[in-house]
Parts: sequence; C-alpha cells; structure tokens
Amino acid sequence: MIFDPQHRKDNRSARVSMALFRMSQAIKKVTQAESDALGLSPVQIQALLFAAYTRNDVATVGNFADAIGTTHVTAVKIINGLLRKGLVTKAQKPEDRRVTLLLLTAEGKVIISQLNHWGHSLEEAVGSISDEALADFELGLGAIISAMQQRGQLVVAEPCLGCVHFHPNVGDAAAPHYCGLIQKYLTHEASLQECPEHTPSIEV
Ligand code: SF4
Repeated sequence: MIFDPQHRKDNRSARVSMALFRMSQAIKKVTQAESDALGLSPVQIQALLFAAYTRNDVATVGNFADAIGTTHVTAVKIINGLLRKGLVTKAQKPEDRRVTLLLLTAEGKVIISQLNHWGHSLEEAVGSISDEALADFELGLGAIISAMQQRGQLVVAEPCLGCVHFHPNVGDAAAPHYCGLIQKYLTHEASLQECPEHTPSIEV
C-alpha cells in the first residue's frame, strides 16, 4: 500500500500515487487559505466556477456533484449555502422540468470577477519548474487523468474543440457548430463553455 515507505521503495506507481496524494493535501491547504480570504469554502467557489464556465443547459446539480466527486445530497447542501448568500439561483430545465439548472446572480458574477487570482499559489509553485520538466509532467498527468476517467473516478469537462462529437462551422451564423451527441446546433459562445460530455478525439 502506498503509505508504506518500504513498498514505495521498489514500486514506481506507489511512489507516484503517494506524490499525487501529498499534492492533493497541499492543494487543499492552499485553496482553503485563498477561499478564507473571500469568506467562502473551496467547494462553494468550485460551485460558482462551475456555474460560470459550464454550458447553461448542462450546469445541473447532478453534473456539479460529478465534477467535484461527491453525492447529489452533498452537492445540494453546497448549492443551498450559495442560495442563502444570494450568489446563485436555481431554474428548471425547460426540456425536462425534473432537472435543476444553476445560474449565477449578479452578486455571484461579482465574486467570479474577484476570482482571477484564486489558485495562484499553486500556479506559482508549478511555474518555478522548468518548461521541459513541465511538458513531461503534463503528459504523465494527462495519462493518469485519462485512466481515472476510464475507471469512472473523475469527470473532466472541457469546451467543444477537440471533442469527437464536435462539427464546427456547419450551421448558420447564429448557431454555427453542431454536436453529434446531443444533436443540436450550438452558438459559438456555448461551444466555448465547459461540457461534462466532452470526449477527446485524441487519446492522451
Ligand atoms: S459532447 Fe462534445 S461537441 Fe457536444 S457539447 Fe459536449 S463538448 Fe461539445
């Protein structure tokens, strides 16, 4: 097991796993400190960022729960905290009234505009590493993320570019792009938002 130093000595995957675990602890600590300064918890900030950057019709409570790897009940509690602060509102999805969509309020958008530097401590630490080492690290991390996605342990939402379902510039000026998965034309702005169904066209 990865917490046993003797096991790690002869096992690269255990050493990398332990390094990732330690990094996750450190990331938790720095994001907590940055969130405290805004009077919000890290998951509340993640919820606001989710509402801001996820395509409107898929910014659901369920997708938020998947994005942060928690249960629907916990996600609802997080959202309710933001509702009480007046930072988000909920709306029923017009096509399926059982689905709840998250929307930022004007106050929520103000918080988003103040989040430019959220995560900067992590970026500073990573930025001190050479570009060559970072390029290798990026490849390795991509492979780990891909493996965890395939095991259903991680959801990675990305914009449309690079998705197997994306057909750019096949529609009209108002909705120029087409998604083969949801079988809908998309505005250019919608195609730039994050989508939890993004399926990379190139395997990492
Ligand atoms: S499935 Fe792919 S093409 Fe369709 S909306 Fe999501 S990212 Fe865009």
